[in-house]
Amino acid sequence: GCMSIPTADPAAGQAVKAADRAHVFHSWSAQALIDPLAVAGAEGSYFWDYEGNRYLDFSSQLVNTNIGHQHPKVVAAIQEQAGKLCTMAPGFAVEARSEAARLIAERTPGDLDKIFFTNGGAEAVENAVRMARLHTGRQKVLSTYRSYHGATANAIALTGDPRRWPSETGTSGVVHFWGPHLYRSAFHAETEEQERERALAHLEQVIAFEGPQTVAAIILETVVGTAGILVPPAGYLAGVREICDRYGIVFILDEVMAGFGRTGEWFAADHWGVTPDLLTFAKGVNSGYVPLGGVAINAEIAATFAERPFPGGLTYSGHPLACASAVATINAMAEEGIVANAKLIGETVLGPGLRELAERHPSVGEVRGLGVFWALDLVRDRATREPLVPYNAAGAANAPMAELAAACKKRGVWPFTNMNRFHVVPPCTVTAEEARAGLAALDEALTVVDAHV
Ligand code: PMP
Repeated sequence: GCMSIPTADPAAGQAVKAADRAHVFHSWSAQALIDPLAVAGAEGSYFWDYEGNRYLDFSSQLVNTNIGHQHPKVVAAIQEQAGKLCTMAPGFAVEARSEAARLIAERTPGDLDKIFFTNGGAEAVENAVRMARLHTGRQKVLSTYRSYHGATANAIALTGDPRRWPSETGTSGVVHFWGPHLYRSAFHAETEEQERERALAHLEQVIAFEGPQTVAAIILETVVGTAGILVPPAGYLAGVREICDRYGIVFILDEVMAGFGRTGEWFAADHWGVTPDLLTFAKGVNSGYVPLGGVAINAEIAATFAERPFPGGLTYSGHPLACASAVATINAMAEEGIVANAKLIGETVLGPGLRELAERHPSVGEVRGLGVFWALDLVRDRATREPLVPYNAAGAANAPMAELAAACKKRGVWPFTNMNRFHVVPPCTVTAEEARAGLAALDEALTVVDAHV
């Protein structure tokens, strides 16, 4: 395309960086140990710094810029809405809000036809849990160990992976169980069928011992995101749906990361034809151009709050600028075939390309994913599957992953890594040429970690 060439302005970059270091308190970081890149601009699959370095965004930021950076239709829609109506409380009917809700409801599976808007993913999870508890009159919520659901009180308690540990209260009403993951099976399974059957039997047993009459909801990421890009075996989600129906448990699918094109369908649930009772979304709904998330609610739960008030709300629920950007994003994704592009790139470039890398790099234990949602599970030893870095490794123990990330950046590719995994998560708009260029850089960078095998 016609990429604007970044003009270097190192002095401006240093000023931005100095102000950041003085006053910005960063997420998930030891404040003194970080060195944030000062970003000057972005377009499509790229962003650039003030030194004139351009990066291919293989992270989609936090796996949210599904439509790429600075999509002209979305930028124009935000500008137009800003000129018309910047803010209006959630109690009013506003064109951008009702249109966004209609477009989302049209695409969510089954009878998920009412939309409660939030400012992001964690608030969507908080409110979905609230609805499930009020709807069932029960307290407990079940979630998997290999999961991430957000960093607010309930969402971080539901999160199964170690990001939960420093925030645990011990009185959350959350119970964790093992979801399916054949490569690192909790059930010693050897086939996908065994993994599915044993994971479902395990879940049934957890419910039996917790007491089904105390379980309000089960929440799952349809395809697990930051905890490893775990694609469920065929039949697993349908099995959970059946268990929820049998015990009157609300089934929540968290599609904050997997939704809106990331997996090559509008929603990951579409791959398996499963309809949850509640579906949480954020990120790709408007590619994060303005903060937005929400809960799609089925007819039965919506009916619970038809005569009785839902006791929850947010000042910025359904913010006009956020909703206008969602309308433009969804329309552009439909008009430009962006969801189909994600599927095609996954099937023709990323899937085959990553499997080919795995053949040549002994550090790659497993390649998994779909659409533009892939992970390399990196190992010290392919036979034992020992992870390249210890579980939740920090500091020096995580050195090989830090070296890999640095090697990618040096080659102009911005990486997304977590624990022993390298995630390949470019925008849904990524071209075959860009995807191939990113894989070529990753190929070179992987030689750095091969040395640790
Ligand atoms: N659920 C999932 C599956 C996520 O991936 C995330 C964010 N990575 C969240 C919830 C939380 O979203 P947010 O950061 O917008 O609060």
